[in-house]
Amino acid sequence: MKYYSTNQKVSGVSLEEAVVKGLASDKGLFMPDVIKKMPTEFFDNIDKLSFQEIAYAVADAFFGEDVDAESLKQIVYDTLSFDVPLVKVEDNIYSLELFHGPTLAFKDVGARFMSRLLGYFIKKENKGGLVNVLVATSGDTGSAVANGFLGVDGIRVFVLYPKGKVSKIQECQFTTLGKNITAIEVDGTFDDCQRLVKSAFMDEELNKKMKLTSANSINVARFLPQAFYYFYGYAQLKRLGKADNCVICVPSGNFGNITAGLFGKRMGLPVKRFIAANNSNDIFLQYLNTGVYTPRPSVATLANAMDVGDPSNFARVLALYGSHEAICADISGCRYSDPQIAEAIQNCYKANKYILDPHGACGWQALKDGLKPGETGIFLETAHPAKFLEKVENILGIKVEIPQKLQEFMKGTKQSVPMTKEFEDFKAYLMQ
Ligand SMILES: *Cc1c(COP(=O)(O)O)cnc(C)c1O
Repeated sequence: MKYYSTNQKVSGVSLEEAVVKGLASDKGLFMPDVIKKMPTEFFDNIDKLSFQEIAYAVADAFFGEDVDAESLKQIVYDTLSFDVPLVKVEDNIYSLELFHGPTLAFKDVGARFMSRLLGYFIKKENKGGLVNVLVATSGDTGSAVANGFLGVDGIRVFVLYPKGKVSKIQECQFTTLGKNITAIEVDGTFDDCQRLVKSAFMDEELNKKMKLTSANSINVARFLPQAFYYFYGYAQLKRLGKADNCVICVPSGNFGNITAGLFGKRMGLPVKRFIAANNSNDIFLQYLNTGVYTPRPSVATLANAMDVGDPSNFARVLALYGSHEAICADISGCRYSDPQIAEAIQNCYKANKYILDPHGACGWQALKDGLKPGETGIFLETAHPAKFLEKVENILGIKVEIPQKLQEFMKGTKQSVPMTKEFEDFKAYLMQ
């Protein structure tokens, strides 16, 4: 399969190059030339297949031309060593719990898949030498990437994070791992971390000395595997006999997650329509309403993983559909303010005894507001509520149980490399 760039100046790129580069040289995002339809029999039998079987069939459609069957199967099965259960919250509303991976966030799926695919290419090339992954994080991405790449041969990961500005739980998730993971504690802001990473990619001397790559969410190897659980969510709904008129609602920030679902629909997944749930950063909703895309600086909200003012995957949505009209036919939008998010968490707990995290809360509320008679809704619960412990406990006035997996991280010893926000210092560190 070849990949082209959403900016149209680059095409015919191999999967390997797209994965290693991340972003196309014209600064666009990579898209596959062809999105294959899954055969009818696949959907007829989907309710009888396991998550791994479904995911492998979808992975084969994306990557089967570029990765041999045995390796691809192993990558998929290795990635999905946890379940993504569909949980009934109330009549006609189901939560697809994406938070049962190692860091309790949906980003685990993409990060684990990408690390293994990159590992596969490195091994195949057998050029020796390490590949260095640089990632800047304000919390969730760093933990998913660090845990996803932990122990993968030939890859070293540097997680740059702003000192004192990530939650304790998040910090533990990438500073206690050791092995091939190094946490760099930057005396600055998240923007400083991102600037250091970008400067490193542009520095000629550094790139001559070492192979650098990024693991952010625009990478095709992180983004496409997210389609797996849409198919599996549908399969579970079909087992319940509820799969007609299925609506999927996705709490969205950079729009990578929902775009993977839209790819699923293009592959034939019988989803009637999608809802993109936003917090106050409602750039996409405004686009739906006006037909004009106007990015603006993000504002901080309770659902902070969705605080995005210029969603990077918007370019992919546009490339997939081609027009405002076509986008509006498949996707609607909505926005929720912080008080509305808090109210949703309270109302859902009161009515159903189901604890939402602030991101999932936007998804649940959007279905409450937007589901039509005869439709069944699935919202993606993108993180475990314990990842936002203080917020959720304050809103509900109850104690939220911390899963064993999170507690384990908190037992480890923090190890980090202190760093100034000056690029020269960061470069000197990488060069030695
Ligand atoms: C990253 C993230 C999102 C947003 O996903 P996008 O793919 O950027 O739209 C939503 N919820 C949580 C908990 C996240 O970590």
